[in-house]
Amino acid sequence: MLAFRLVSVALLTAGCTHARDVPDTAEHRSLFQHWIDGTDASEPQTQTQRYDTDTFVIRQSVRTNPEAPFLYLLFGKDRALLLDTGAGGLMIRPAVDAAINQWLVEHKRTAIPLVVAHSHGHGDHQAGDAEFRDRPDTKVVGLQPAEISGFFGIADWPNSIARFDLGDRVLHVIPTPGHHPAHIMIYDERAHLLLSGDSLYPGRIYIPANLLADFQASMDRLAGFLENRTVSHVLGAHIEMTRKPGVDFKPNAPQHPDEHILELPVSDVAELRAAVRAMGDKVVREVHDDFIVFPLPPRLPPAPASN
Ligand SMILES: [Zn+2]
Ligand SMILES: [Zn+2]
Repeated sequence: MLAFRLVSVALLTAGCTHARDVPDTAEHRSLFQHWIDGTDASEPQTQTQRYDTDTFVIRQSVRTNPEAPFLYLLFGKDRALLLDTGAGGLMIRPAVDAAINQWLVEHKRTAIPLVVAHSHGHGDHQAGDAEFRDRPDTKVVGLQPAEISGFFGIADWPNSIARFDLGDRVLHVIPTPGHHPAHIMIYDERAHLLLSGDSLYPGRIYIPANLLADFQASMDRLAGFLENRTVSHVLGAHIEMTRKPGVDFKPNAPQHPDEHILELPVSDVAELRAAVRAMGDKVVREVHDDFIVFPLPPRLPPAPASN
């Protein structure tokens, strides 16, 4: 598996691997090759790497938008799911179509239905939606809890968790409001991945003051769900931490030299849950090695498109 992964990642890296000038210490050795980070003026607008045969990770260059988000494309036998469409500042669909076409060629197929969903409705995760609206055999899921619940079959938002089968690949859609009222995480039962959006990633976990209770309840829900499940890696939607524990890049930094690796250990779920629980009823800025809890002023839904 590991050998395959390294080979497949190498095949898809968009011509931007460099010898690193920082030590490749154990804690910073990533599953992935070096991600584009804005330090090379000639870097491509997107970079695609594979986690496994059926799992593609696409990063948008920080040079196209300072949020530099990560998108996830998961294939099952019957359909594919794209989680997020980027922050704008580029056409994102060519990168998605290239990955889909590669997968189809490898599987000797000519088409597969595509579902486009979102970790949440902030602008940096849905700016490319319009590019997919006229794509054949494609469903773009709406941004409101009612639309998300209706599509995935979430019986009681945010309390229940829905199964969504891509075909021999069951995903679990976990409502996790808090950072944003319509935030979801996705647990991939086959790859043992947790796609955590903006609610847990190596960076600033922004929580509006009036949504702390929702965030706390979401972390409880998530922890309960994960109790008897294996998570190999937590994969979020941004990287804002440097390799130095607890040290982040400035907001809107144009380059991310020596950034933290993308994947987080599942122990960070418990660490974040304990941190926000201990805050009681007031969000405070709290620095952890892999993330920083960051308070925002109260927001009323629908939240503005940012972060
Ligand atoms: Zn967000
Ligand atoms: Zn974001």
